[in-house]
Amino acid sequence: MSQAKKTNTAKGARVRQALARKLGAKPAGGRGRRVDPAKVADEVLPFWKRKTLVQMTQREWESLCDGCGKCCVNKLEYEETGEVVQTNTCCRLLDTHTCRCGDYKNRKKIVPDCIQLSPDVVAEMDWLPRSCAYRLVLQGRDLFWWHPLVSGDPETVHEAGVSARGKVISELEAGDLAEHVLDDWL
Ligand code: SF4
Ligand code: SF4
Repeated sequence: MSQAKKTNTAKGARVRQALARKLGAKPAGGRGRRVDPAKVADEVLPFWKRKTLVQMTQREWESLCDGCGKCCVNKLEYEETGEVVQTNTCCRLLDTHTCRCGDYKNRKKIVPDCIQLSPDVVAEMDWLPRSCAYRLVLQGRDLFWWHPLVSGDPETVHEAGVSARGKVISELEAGDLAEHVLDDWL
């Protein structure tokens, strides 16, 4: 190995160790072990605490959804007053048990008025549930214990009783939605 290469390698190791120390991690010990700054950063502070919605990767963005299914519950807007109310019915594509979209990839073709979430859209959607992870991050708040990213278990959102599971029926079975208006939002 040339002297220049040796110097660069040593410098790279020092930079990685300094970054790891800055992030509160112990320098990697042992010959050949390397610190992955992104992994270390995630262990110290998970992405939803250190990134804005705009800064998230597509994968991070998708994983932020807690799977509550509440944004797929049907709402009605009264023409005269503009008041928006919620029903106990949901989009035809929502699986009422898993609370996941039945055809996420093709949903816009099947349900054209399905709203594609983006940071701008989240900022405008004041009817998103207060527990919605996108809304929480936008407000600079932390996720709840039951969020799958925190608990590590996709079932906790249902166990905590904050999802649409058991609270809605499909619009395909409901008939007149006006007869399904709820007094309180889910
Ligand atoms: S309300 Fe928010 S967290 Fe819940 S399913 Fe919809 S986008 Fe995901
Ligand atoms: S198409 Fe899928 S994501 Fe869109 S509202 Fe229906 S169930 Fe929800």
